[in-house]
Amino acid sequence: MPFSSLGLSDSLLKSLAEQNYAKPYPIQQEAIPVILKGNDMLGIAKTGSGKTASFVLPILERLRESKPSKSRHVKALVLVPTRELAIQVEEVFSLFSSSLPKTVKTLAVYGGVSINPQMMQLQGVEILVATTGRLLDLIDSNAVNLSAVEILVLDEADKMLNLGFKEEMAKIFALLPAKRQNILFSATLSSDINSITDILLSNPTIIEIKEETTSLDLIKQSAYLVSEERKGPFLRYLIIKQQMDPVLVFVSSTNRAEAVVHKLLKNGIKAASMHSQKSQGARTDVLKQFKDGTLRVLVATDLASRGIDIQFLPYVINYELPRSPKDYIHRIGRTGRAESPGEAISIINPEEMHHFKIIQKKMGKWLTLIHTDDINLTGF
Ligand code: AMP
Repeated sequence: MPFSSLGLSDSLLKSLAEQNYAKPYPIQQEAIPVILKGNDMLGIAKTGSGKTASFVLPILERLRESKPSKSRHVKALVLVPTRELAIQVEEVFSLFSSSLPKTVKTLAVYGGVSINPQMMQLQGVEILVATTGRLLDLIDSNAVNLSAVEILVLDEADKMLNLGFKEEMAKIFALLPAKRQNILFSATLSSDINSITDILLSNPTIIEIKEETTSLDLIKQSAYLVSEERKGPFLRYLIIKQQMDPVLVFVSSTNRAEAVVHKLLKNGIKAASMHSQKSQGARTDVLKQFKDGTLRVLVATDLASRGIDIQFLPYVINYELPRSPKDYIHRIGRTGRAESPGEAISIINPEEMHHFKIIQKKMGKWLTLIHTDDINLTGF
């Protein structure tokens, strides 16, 4: 089924073609007509399924000809769990909005950066993408009003609940008009999710995209056994020998991220870190460089493993294993997305072997461990 049969206007269809979105992904095929009709919807879909465009496109379509709103009264509100996701979702709105005859003004607001510029930019905004804490601050300062919201989206609702935003979400819901369209996305269904879908959604269309097995199948996984002291040289050996560019390297701590970056730079490999000790501005810059292709290696803690969409990421390396098998899947899920194949490599020391067995058991897939003692790492 082509995009043209989903009810989107020519300007959006043209810009989809320009972005090389050849045909809709399953979530888009099902969600776009439902959202265009104005129905409530529950989408069970993960990052990588194409869920962002599945709500961005029909929301732009619905708002593109609507009358200008009163000052600081937004028409669509998208709540997200993290700052990075706020930036990313807003980018997709801006990308497609710019192709419309009348641009729909969009903005992302999130904490960790100064509030004043956001207050000023809110003037004339119709679609607001927000994290909950910063949105409540902006409401308190009368910088934004939610009484004219026509469409509410909760993106990664399960993560918002896991991060403890339930009370903040409830405060926000209380400020919305009773008559509105509600759209909720979650990677999984749980009793917690059911508790909000029950109060929020009325007679929703439920769309479930079972995606994990296919996307994991796209990923070539391998594991190398390397002693702790040879891990650094081995990482550099892999990056250079396999000409990896770009590559995302996961580590378990801020200090380790800095140490790995330091060594990569010393060896002439362009690298930068991303972790919770970095300011929001620095994180955004690094991510931008990585997405632009000007940064070869991004070394990140698990902060970067969820929700961040990096187009065309052929390699992910686990320099250290994550604690939970779930995080392992999230990490390697950064590659092999958008129907392009990817490779996930774990560098494991003998002490990590037991933990790696647990991860493989949970994943239901066993990898042959490649021994590396014979590899000469002199000079790396
Ligand atoms: P998401 O799950 O929204 O994070 O999207 C995952 C990735 O798929 C992003 O890089 C999108 O740009 C890409 N994408 C989404 N829909 C399509 C499509 N129909 N055709 C090609 N790429 C797409």
